[in-house]
Amino acid sequence: MNNETLLKNLRSIPDFPQKGIMFRDVTTLFKDPECLNIMVDELYEMYKDKGITKIVGIESRGFVISSALAIRLGAGVILCRKPGKLPAETVQESYTKEYGTDTIEIHKDSINENDVILLHDDLLATGGTMKAAYNLVNKFNPKKIYVNFLIELVNENLNGRSIFDEGTDIQTLIQV
Ligand code: 5GP
Repeated sequence: MNNETLLKNLRSIPDFPQKGIMFRDVTTLFKDPECLNIMVDELYEMYKDKGITKIVGIESRGFVISSALAIRLGAGVILCRKPGKLPAETVQESYTKEYGTDTIEIHKDSINENDVILLHDDLLATGGTMKAAYNLVNKFNPKKIYVNFLIELVNENLNGRSIFDEGTDIQTLIQV
C-alpha cells in the first residue's frame, strides 16, 4: 500500500537527459509530505536495529533522504561528491560508465573502523555509481556497509544488483 503510493507519485520523463531514456524523477516523491514520511518511516524500520553510525549520501539526490533518515537513526551524514566540491583532503574512486569514466570522493577524515555505514542513493540502474561508492567506503575498513536505494530499475537488460559481491546487504523501497 505504501509502496503503491510511492509508485503512483513517481514521475517518469521520457527522453531525459537524452533520447531513449525514461528518467524516473524522484523530486515528485521529495516534494510530497506523505511520500517523504513513507520513505523515511520504511527506511527507519529497515535500519533501526543495525547500529548505523553514518549515512553516506550520493550526490545529489541521495542527500535528501540521507539527512532525514540520519536524524531519525541518530547517525551522521557524509557527502559523497563529484571531484572538486569538497574542501578538505579527500579519498577518491573512479569507475567506468557507458561513455568514459567518472570519479567520486569523500573527505579523508569522514569514516573510521568503528563505523557502521549505510550507503544511500535515489536509484539503482547499472549499479556502477554505488559500486564505486562501496569500494570507496570499503577503503576505510568500517565494521559493516549496508546499501540502500529508493528505486531499483529492473528489466531484462538491467540487473544492477549483480555487480555487487554476493552477500552484500542491498535494500530498495520500490522496483520499477
Ligand atoms: P547507475 O550508476 O546505477 O547506472 O546509475 C545510478 C545513478 O545515476 C544514481 O546516482 C542516480 O541518481 C542516477 N540515475 C540514473 N538514472 C536515473 C533515473 O532514471 N532517475 C534518477 N532519479 N536518477 C537516475
